[in-house]
Amino acid sequence: MAPSPESVFRSYEFCSKKRGVPGWTLLQIIPSDACPVSYRVPWYRLSDEHLLDLRICDLALKIKGSFLEPHIKRLYSELNDRGIRFKPHVWLSEEWFSPDGVPGIAIPFYLAHPRLMKLERKQMLEVEGGTDTECLRILRHEAGHALDTAFRLHFKRKWRELFGSFAQRYPDFYKPKPKSRRYVLHLPAWYAQAHPAEDFAETFAVWLTPRSRWRRRYKGWQALNKLEYIDELMNELAGTKPRNRTRTKVEPISEIRTTLREHYRHKREKYDFDWPEVYDRDLRRIFSDDPRHKTRPSAASFLRTVRREVRQIVAEGTGVHQYTIDHVLENMINRCKELRLRVATPTREARRRVMIVLTVQVMNVLHSGYHRIAV
Ligand SMILES: [Zn+2]
Repeated sequence: MAPSPESVFRSYEFCSKKRGVPGWTLLQIIPSDACPVSYRVPWYRLSDEHLLDLRICDLALKIKGSFLEPHIKRLYSELNDRGIRFKPHVWLSEEWFSPDGVPGIAIPFYLAHPRLMKLERKQMLEVEGGTDTECLRILRHEAGHALDTAFRLHFKRKWRELFGSFAQRYPDFYKPKPKSRRYVLHLPAWYAQAHPAEDFAETFAVWLTPRSRWRRRYKGWQALNKLEYIDELMNELAGTKPRNRTRTKVEPISEIRTTLREHYRHKREKYDFDWPEVYDRDLRRIFSDDPRHKTRPSAASFLRTVRREVRQIVAEGTGVHQYTIDHVLENMINRCKELRLRVATPTREARRRVMIVLTVQVMNVLHSGYHRIAV
């Protein structure tokens, strides 16, 4: 499971920051000279350009005292509340993942410092795991993998019957069936459908989430059998010690000698995708080149104005990373310029049509196999 298939997809919880979640607001409320002691590092006032030249191993980041610490404690207490005597060890790396054979969780380094979260947003347009809700959501998922490894659960016959073969290869992509009731819904993009190991981790995360009311929510779904099985299994495990107690850290930041600049170049390449051309006919459904509208704003400037909002909403609905969606918008803007299109309807209506065209395009690509998995 290394490194993090789920990082291919972005978060729909991104919008939770609208509700005032501390993770991100922290950045805005820390004046530069009132940085908490735990965040005081020599590089925190550097410009992005200078910061990008630093090597990840030289950042001297720590989980203790960071945004991550309370969330990890919360995960441990949720496990403890369920009688599970297991605390997966955690460390900083480049991405979220739980390695094969190691019952622990790697967390992306940018979450350990607000300056790096800000850089992440600038480079990737979103901060995966950067809100309280989303961080916990991913931690619970990764805890599912770690627990599976620790107690060697996937060797059990019933595990195989319900989830499938753990040894099955990770596919290059998967085609999610949005209406399927065989899988729980936790991370975006119907992620449980990606692989039996992911199905287990997702189902475990739903089971672990306090007040998830899974019995009621999944009533009549085949996924309920999986949840009931996990419930039984966790009752059996309660109070027992894990068999695999390895504390190895895979790809810790101390060993990552690439610079932030190189790191982001690779990361952006991962999310780049050859989207099909934006069809002119779709753009003409939204905009017009009729001279009657020559005093109206240009379609390109209109798209630039709504870009951020539209990107967030479509990403939220489809589970696709904002960085990827932004590329489609960029293509749309360029094509609108070439066709000299203008806004021909009230802006509210134009915005609605942009969202529809964009969502349809993203969904078409999902169904033709966009869901590449970075194993
Ligand atoms: Zn996973």
